Amino acid sequence: MAWQCLADELAARPWLRIWWRDDDAAFIHPLHAVLRLVARHRLEAMLDVLERYRMPTLVAVVPYKFLNGARPLARLLAQRGAPVAVHGLRHRSRLPGGANEFPPGLDDERQCALILQAHRELAMVYGPKALPVFVPPYNTMSPALACLLEAQGLVISARNPDPCAPESNDRHVDYDFVDWRARRLLPHDRILRDLTRLVQSGRRSLGLNGHHKLITRRDRAFFARLFACIDQCRGAQTDLPFPAAPFIAG
Ligand SMILES: [Zn+2]
Repeated sequence: MAWQCLADELAARPWLRIWWRDDDAAFIHPLHAVLRLVARHRLEAMLDVLERYRMPTLVAVVPYKFLNGARPLARLLAQRGAPVAVHGLRHRSRLPGGANEFPPGLDDERQCALILQAHRELAMVYGPKALPVFVPPYNTMSPALACLLEAQGLVISARNPDPCAPESNDRHVDYDFVDWRARRLLPHDRILRDLTRLVQSGRRSLGLNGHHKLITRRDRAFFARLFACIDQCRGAQTDLPFPAAPFIAG
């Protein structure tokens, strides 16, 4: 019933663009060998499912030690030709007691230069698949730094504060599948209800926020069914809401 409900709403809106941003492809210290293996396996398995059902996907990469220290992951993304974006610098909060890597009060010019450098390094490896997009960790950052990055040609992809508002930013994600207190996916029936409501809201674009590290085999089966449902109802919108231009100035 819930599946049919979602399929009916999707079928009524073939112009809706649905895309996936997968966050936190990152260096994991060699001492955590199991975590490294799990992260790689889960990213690969998730890319399989996303590709099978033609889900437009952007992988947000934490640049710290990624290209040299996380070579299997870095290679995997290159082999798959997955579009990538810079996701913070180290993905560590610098706001005491909070969650913000780039709170107001830092040297924004310096942070901007470091982020541009990280983008250029990704572009050296991934070429045009390194999109000029910056994904701030925790979906938040100093507005002044965001302005500096935009002036340099980077697009910011954070999260829409009110996912049901039809006039939201198409480049932001709208829905996070994770219950962060429990660090696992929300119940699948709840996700179906939430997505149905979002599709009904009349928006043009729906950004889904995934975190491959937390997606188990059982969750993948759920996503395969979800993406198949979306793919069957999809109209012409099969691209990401980002510019294709590969390199930025400076
Ligand atoms: Zn993140």
